[in-house]
Amino acid sequence: MWHYRPPLADMRFVIEQVLDAPARWAAGDSGLDADTAAQVLEEAGRFAAQVLQPVNAEGDTCGCRWDAGRVSLPAGYRHAYRQFAEGGWPALACDPEWGGQGLPQLVNMALYEMLNSACHAWTMYPGLAHGAYECLKAHGTPLLQQRYLKRIVSGEWLATMCLTEAHAGSDLGLLRTRAEPQPDGSVRVSGTKIFISGGEHDLTDNILHLVLCRLPDAPPGSKGLSLALVPRLLPDGSANGVRCDGIERKMGIKGSATCTLSFEAATGWLVGEPHRGLAAMFVMMNAARLQVAMQGLGHLEMATQNALRYAFERLQMRAARRPEGSRTGPADPIALHPAMRRTLWKLQAHTEGSRVLAYWCAMLLDEPAAQGHVALLTPVLKSLLTRLGFEGASDAQQVWGGHGYLHDWGIEQSVRDARIALIYEGTNEIQAVDLLQRKVLGDGGAALGALLDELAQEAALCAEHPATAAAGTALLQQLEAVRQATAALVEGHADDTEWPQRVAGDYLNGVGLALLAWAWARSARVALAQPDERLREHKLAIARYGREWLLPEASACWQRVLARHAALPWLDEAAVS
Ligand SMILES: Cc1cc2nc3c(=O)[nH]c(=O)nc-3n(C[C@H](O)[C@H](O)[C@H](O)COP(=O)(O)OP(=O)(O)OC[C@H]3O[C@@H](n4cnc5c(N)ncnc54)[C@H](O)[C@@H]3O)c2cc1C
Repeated sequence: MWHYRPPLADMRFVIEQVLDAPARWAAGDSGLDADTAAQVLEEAGRFAAQVLQPVNAEGDTCGCRWDAGRVSLPAGYRHAYRQFAEGGWPALACDPEWGGQGLPQLVNMALYEMLNSACHAWTMYPGLAHGAYECLKAHGTPLLQQRYLKRIVSGEWLATMCLTEAHAGSDLGLLRTRAEPQPDGSVRVSGTKIFISGGEHDLTDNILHLVLCRLPDAPPGSKGLSLALVPRLLPDGSANGVRCDGIERKMGIKGSATCTLSFEAATGWLVGEPHRGLAAMFVMMNAARLQVAMQGLGHLEMATQNALRYAFERLQMRAARRPEGSRTGPADPIALHPAMRRTLWKLQAHTEGSRVLAYWCAMLLDEPAAQGHVALLTPVLKSLLTRLGFEGASDAQQVWGGHGYLHDWGIEQSVRDARIALIYEGTNEIQAVDLLQRKVLGDGGAALGALLDELAQEAALCAEHPATAAAGTALLQQLEAVRQATAALVEGHADDTEWPQRVAGDYLNGVGLALLAWAWARSARVALAQPDERLREHKLAIARYGREWLLPEASACWQRVLARHAALPWLDEAAVS
């Protein structure tokens, strides 16, 4: 059976050794030390494994129920949410001014990795509320902050992100929901939003909707958007003009209610400046993109540990070679067959590298000077980790053979659940365009250059030890390939304005592999100083596997980027109709 063991030792290794985060915390406001952080994560792991994971299958089987505008969730979801809120988990990384515990974002991200491994669909409810907290804290008026922040932080109320409309998905500039200003400073919001996660449910009585909308004098396009907070219940406790018209039947995350919401002159208040709502919403969207990256990591970890466990239990055929001293019998564990070994090393390498990158980015969230790095890392992590999470779940299903295809073992649920993360919160294609066109070409590659310079320092450190010298060389090669491609695009994109969009996906994947090369090299170098020989050997083996079997994929990406193939032919619409 698919089950979850919190990877606390691996998490501690990344936090304490690879990132040396406690040293940075000591210099910051939280004053958190390594042992206290480890205790918090141990407790979080207990919640994830013992309370949350047991309701994962229930959410998939029972799903959500819509009845006359009200949505009920599986009973286990309500029970788990009560314990989550009572345990103070929503407050972990929130400001003490609003009742939070003021712990670093990194601890919160590690918590979310575990929650997502245990139950992706359930975790979307508190995950969105945390994004709303960040958005209101940054852009809410003092009155809105007073009224709502403490109740989000305590977990009493949850929140949603209302962007999508039937005709406006990736292109938010098309959205039509209106906001009419009122003499008392509020707005009346009218329009219909689709696909709203957690738009209606029975975990909390109030739900705070953050709604992208247009004021009457708004210019067209995305520059004319405003953001309004529209609560399900008004401050006097009466119902607001928000109605849930239905929920979607979906491939996965069936316990997450995906709602159509109608706003009928609903009362709301602007968050941020009029017509500058997208800037305010981006605070929530960026937080949500990293949350979605953690969904990918959660699935990847789950895939890795379950694939490994099964591969040692399942005996099929005799292996051509086996480790010295191992027992012989009519059949060997499938973990000994080279094809399976490759898959298992790939899963381990992707999990290790993804965790290092995700935690690094989470650590940087707390460092104002590092926000340029965070802006670049966000689309890469959203896209890379969700793809690896989905592919990892599919690989684990392959390791489980026919049993992986059966419903009762739980793996096929993970494959179905993981798929959405490539689509929502800005599709992975949109992330690639955001990275290359907006964030790299937008400043002529300057911010990326600074990031690459920092990564190159690791190569110099790796070169100092024979065991990691090859990892350092591989890292330098990857960084050089990113630099070359970036320079070519910066120089040539004005002559062929479509070129960046044709190759944005390859560019993002190439950058992602360079980042993984950094993560593997750093883990291996840091592990050399550890007393545990098995750990040292394991991290070195991961770096080697990544270098020899995974990094070659980058060459194909860069080859396609630099080839500057002519524009793709137009498709023949007449042949379709
Ligand atoms: C389960 C679920 C939960 C969701 N939760 C929320 C939520 O809580 N709040 C919310 O507001 N929305 C939510 N969404 C909506 C989700 O964010 C959108 O589905 C997503 O942004 C894509 O929009 P779309 O479906 O309209 O696809 P489209 O925008 O129509 O895109 C279709 C395809 O075209 C590609 N494409 C479009 N434009 C470009 C371009 N310029 N360059 C390259 N490729 C392009 C896309 O990548 C995609 O592959 C949810 C969706 C689902 C299914």
